[in-house]
Amino acid sequence: MDTEEAYKEFGLDPSASDEQLKATWRRLVATWHPDRNGAAGAGRRMQLINKAYQHLRQLRDGNGDGSDDAGGESAEAASSAACATPEAETPGNRHVRKVRLSLEDAILGCTRSVRGHFTQTCNDCVGKGQRVLAKACSTCRGNGAVRKAALFGWLWNSEACEDCGGDGRQRAPCDACDGNGERLVAYRRRVRFPAGLREGNALSVPASRHGDMEIDLELQVEIEPHPFFTLDDDGVLRCEMPVNGYAWMAGRWVDVPTPDGAQQLRLNRDALVYRFRGQGFPSAVRGPRGDYHVKVVPVFPTQEDPVQEALLDQLIASSTSTAEADHSQPLGQWQHQMKRWNSSKKEQARDH
Ligand SMILES: [Zn+2]
Ligand SMILES: [Zn+2]
Repeated sequence: MDTEEAYKEFGLDPSASDEQLKATWRRLVATWHPDRNGAAGAGRRMQLINKAYQHLRQLRDGNGDGSDDAGGESAEAASSAACATPEAETPGNRHVRKVRLSLEDAILGCTRSVRGHFTQTCNDCVGKGQRVLAKACSTCRGNGAVRKAALFGWLWNSEACEDCGGDGRQRAPCDACDGNGERLVAYRRRVRFPAGLREGNALSVPASRHGDMEIDLELQVEIEPHPFFTLDDDGVLRCEMPVNGYAWMAGRWVDVPTPDGAQQLRLNRDALVYRFRGQGFPSAVRGPRGDYHVKVVPVFPTQEDPVQEALLDQLIASSTSTAEADHSQPLGQWQHQMKRWNSSKKEQARDH
């Protein structure tokens, strides 16, 4: 990277002060750090930014003596600062705001209209809220000072005029900002949120013009809690759902919520957790989707119901007679052994 490219990376020219360079670097780190920016290429951009910063630091610290120490130091400073969380600063041309996404939108990606507003220092009056006229201040008649009586009028003190700040010129409220010194700028952008953004990720939206100002939007993602789905720290999407215990035993079909809509699942009484391949949360931003895990919780009636009890008695009776008839099955085998054991006990009792 040459010096011209390095300055270009920062949008600065060689006349920029060290402070400007440092402030710009911090701002870019805050925007592009991969921990905060989910956009593709954020990591690559971060490398370029640090490379440019190192190059310019070395140049400015005086690389004429070929001192390795200076270079090593600044390189270390650059990388450690890049990993630290940059302080929350909001320079005029960067607007940071939060955007809440539903879990489905985060999984599938979405396009949103993002609107808001921010205050901008008035350019016409440089934030002072007033402009200076060519005519003399009416309070001090252009003298810049007013006389005030002191010591019961025996002496006069001269004080700077408050209305003109002592320069003797008349002020009028700034028309551009109605005398407020700042203006409210509204913005509205269509933003594409890629699939796989997580809570705390930041998305940088390239600069656009608003009035006489260019702003970058930094969108910080928040994920809304979902009634069905939870996202593990390890990125696995899960759902826990109650199912009718008898339907579970009978291997019936149930409706299961998935990020793409409801799906049918055939219950299996040997399984409580079901895996939906490739229907979970993306493994990375714009990455392939992971698995979705559904855990079913079989629920049985908690209150006795005479009709259900009668049906259960019937069910037990019919299944027991079938099972007992088959001695190769565990239940049939068991009953067979129980019978033999019982009769041997009776024989022993008779013998004694
Ligand atoms: Zn005055
Ligand atoms: Zn103004």
